[in-house]
Amino acid sequence: MTRSYLAKNVQSLQPSGIRKFFDLASKMDNVISLGVGEPDFVTPWNVIEASYHSLEQGYTAYTANAGLLELREEISSYLSKEFSLSYQADNQILVTVGASQAIDLALRSVLEPGDEVVVVEPSFVSYSPAVTLAGGKAISLSASAENEFKIQAEQLEEVITTKTKAIVLCSPNNPTGTVLNRKELEQIAAVVEKHDVLVISDEIYAELSFEEKAMSIASIPGMAERTIVVSGFSKAFAMTGWRLGYACGPVEIIDAMTKIHQYTMMCAPTMAQYGALEALRNGMESVENMKMSYRQRRNYVVNALNEMGLSCHVPGGAFYVFPSIKETGMSSEEFAQRLLEEERVAVVPGHVFGESGEGYIRCSYATSIKQLGVALQRMARFVEKHRISDRD
Ligand code: PMP
Repeated sequence: MTRSYLAKNVQSLQPSGIRKFFDLASKMDNVISLGVGEPDFVTPWNVIEASYHSLEQGYTAYTANAGLLELREEISSYLSKEFSLSYQADNQILVTVGASQAIDLALRSVLEPGDEVVVVEPSFVSYSPAVTLAGGKAISLSASAENEFKIQAEQLEEVITTKTKAIVLCSPNNPTGTVLNRKELEQIAAVVEKHDVLVISDEIYAELSFEEKAMSIASIPGMAERTIVVSGFSKAFAMTGWRLGYACGPVEIIDAMTKIHQYTMMCAPTMAQYGALEALRNGMESVENMKMSYRQRRNYVVNALNEMGLSCHVPGGAFYVFPSIKETGMSSEEFAQRLLEEERVAVVPGHVFGESGEGYIRCSYATSIKQLGVALQRMARFVEKHRISDRD
């Protein structure tokens, strides 16, 4: 028998809990999926065209490692105009292969073995595995439903130790849709500053904030020096398949991230970078239209869920709702599994996003109103059948 060649920290990695439901759903007919975390819109046409043109003009070679300077300049002025952030194009912005790569590079550039990273949960499924792969230790911090899944500064204070290097924040949040306001971010910033910790701020849904403009923690005085802002084009611009994102931060960290990127990736795809340039220059009207549509669907879905007895706070952003399923007495895994088998609707059980997600499910409303209507009817029938009071 040969020995296992796998590294220990890879052996213990679990496959994403979201995947399992996609695999099950793909073997069934007539399934409506509220499981996917991506827009149902096609990328705006002007963006596609700009990318075509770049190919026609023969721009098919590598770009600079950090990305096209023109694109970094555009990102710099966009972030300044939209989010009051100030980053220099030449040494504080790195164009990456999606926000995913930006998160990986950020962690790899700052972590040493044993460093702790606080991950606020429920959270996007990649953070903790990415921390582990970078040699760090992920420390879960549960935001609770009573606080609309907003982390409290005192809770953060309690988990920070001398080993804490960073905290990963995401607002607007996947999976809860929660948006942190200025006051909440300032309270977190005060704790972070006090303990001299770095923030990795995932702002990929920043444009999709419905009631108030999303705020970046890096725009709070004193925070830009200790924050890596991660964002990208996947969500607001409906460009998931283009694989384009970026990271902004202190010169020293962006320089280190660029070195790792240079050795492992060279650069982000050139034609996608030309598309992104057009997205920032002339794409905001499309973003606004998509946002209006998401907002309308959010209201529709939240009302329908509350009516069927699955209580649900009104999420301020992204394209997810995170209703409680406690009404049924089922675990979130059982709920998702049986809803799929009995009614052919795919959702994601809350526990895959962390312990505090148990008792909840994530439904993405990035699907047509018509499909949502059918899915919600099926869910209402399912909940009616399994309500605890009826089973007792
Ligand atoms: N962060 C969050 C919170 C996400 O939801 C996602 C995608 N599901 C990503 C990052 C990854 O985005 P990208 O496609 O830019 O890699």
